[in-house]
Amino acid sequence: MAETRIFWAIECAEDEPEYFVCMSCLNEVYRCKVPSACPTCDAISTFEAFRLAGIRDWGSESLVAKAEQASTDPPARPPAQPMPHVESPSLTEMPSS
Ligand SMILES: [Zn+2]
Repeated sequence: MAETRIFWAIECAEDEPEYFVCMSCLNEVYRCKVPSACPTCDAISTFEAFRLAGIRDWGSESLVAKAEQASTDPPARPPAQPMPHVESPSLTEMPSS
């Protein structure tokens, strides 16, 4: 069966916490969006907003890593906002160091 994951976009102001952590398993974190159900524990509506600094404070290593990864993800954008007209460089090519 194909896995469908639905995300709800969350509007985050500059000065508001924009990371959403599953309070049930503390294993999933997203930035400016939450899944309809947690992909790890299947819990619904268990996501609460935190700042990255807060997650670094109490989160597990893997949670902090996920939060940092999420910080580079583009947030879910409402369709009303057009994509910027720029050619984005290939994100798949990472410098090997
Ligand atoms: Zn969970």
